[in-house]
Amino acid sequence: MRWRILIMPFAWPCACRRHVQSAEGYADNAAMPAPPVFKPAHDAIAGCDLCVAPGGVLVWSQADWRVIRVDDAAHPAFYRVVCNRHVREFSDLAPAERRRCMDLVCAIERVLIDKLTPTKINIAALGNMVPHLHWHVIARFEWDSHFPNPVWGDKLRDPLPSPMQRLAMTTEQLDTAVIAALSTC
Ligand SMILES: [Zn+2]
Repeated sequence: MRWRILIMPFAWPCACRRHVQSAEGYADNAAMPAPPVFKPAHDAIAGCDLCVAPGGVLVWSQADWRVIRVDDAAHPAFYRVVCNRHVREFSDLAPAERRRCMDLVCAIERVLIDKLTPTKINIAALGNMVPHLHWHVIARFEWDSHFPNPVWGDKLRDPLPSPMQRLAMTTEQLDTAVIAALSTC
């Protein structure tokens, strides 16, 4: 159900939030690269949400894979590595594709560790709701609303200050770091 809730038209966070965060001490990131433009696959399958839309904030994209950030206020450091074509199981990928996928997952994981010092990184591939194989890469904190449960489990608390205020940087700055790491994969 979470995935269905999060499938939404492509949209970057408004500048207002960045201004608020700047007022709290974050630095504006004037060097933030232009967001990639999502292009539906030429073999897009009718009726598939992830063939016609990125499925979140599109951060990075190449022919076979894309990376989106889940627009989730409770878990703001939450990325997905999504296969652009329909693949059901990880073992359905060719060996080189599996390695490529894991290189992308590891690059994001390392950025989250280095930039945010989370309590734990959660990585998972469920894919029960969509036909595009994808890996979730989520920075978890002992103060977050669900920890130590999975983000799909029972909520345990309402953290204050908010998760966004607790992050060491804005999500836009985090995206920039993720893009830089992926560019070297
Ligand atoms: Zn599809």
